[in-house]
Amino acid sequence: MANSLANLVECRGVAIRYGDLRALEDFDLTLPPGKACALIGPNGAGKSTVLKLLAGLETESAGSLLVNGKRPQDAGQAWKRDIGLLPENLALFDALTVAEHLELSGELYGLSRNETSMRTEELLTLLSLGEGRDRFAAACSYGMRKKTAFAMALLHAPKLLLLDEPFEGLDPASCESVLAVLLRAKSGGMGILVSSHMLMHVERLADEVVLLDRGRATWRGATVTEGGLQEHYLRLIAAAPLPPMAWL
Ligand code: ATP
Repeated sequence: MANSLANLVECRGVAIRYGDLRALEDFDLTLPPGKACALIGPNGAGKSTVLKLLAGLETESAGSLLVNGKRPQDAGQAWKRDIGLLPENLALFDALTVAEHLELSGELYGLSRNETSMRTEELLTLLSLGEGRDRFAAACSYGMRKKTAFAMALLHAPKLLLLDEPFEGLDPASCESVLAVLLRAKSGGMGILVSSHMLMHVERLADEVVLLDRGRATWRGATVTEGGLQEHYLRLIAAAPLPPMAWL
């Protein structure tokens, strides 16, 4: 990996506990600029917990953590401008329209009105959100809400993009658009950490894949050869056998 001073993320031996529950144990992660890392793994494995930790929304119980050179808990507004987050719960406002969310985001991140407006138009077109631009978030479909939250995370071109399930709920063409813009952002030097169950998209985006299982990184790989990531995953985490279910 690149010079450690330049790494956007450096986690060493990080743990997160919720009471007795060990949500994350002895977790290491290094992410340089211009690279994408994907967190995969079963439901409840700890993927969203890692993203929240890096965004400063959770506190580590043990270990050390630097995101863009600072411990997120101690970082201020300037640090936040270099981070983009698509959170699990999307965090939209029901009474703002799609376009108003992007205006708000531009203002919060210190973009000029012109820059916000230009980037907004490009993102609305790319994500096929143009027709719904004046619809309140409360009246948007789930996919439209997800794409709005994604556009908000990207609008200020952060150094580090943290994406919780960016492909979930999106139609196939929108998934392609999201992948294309992420690959472009990566080649421009953005670091991307994504959690996803959509392994065929993960394969095209990620330079490193980390499998989390019950809070622990149990496998890491750059590429998977035989059979692809889906088959590899199912070799590592077998699906439960089908019970008799005489009632079905
Ligand atoms: P999914 O694929 O279903 O989104 P995930 O890998 O993102 O799952 P997390 O949301 O990180 O999983 O949750 C990891 C574990 O931490 C789970 O057991 C979850 O119930 C627990 N957990 C998460 N947030 C809290 C919280 N605020 N309080 C207590 N437990 C929590």
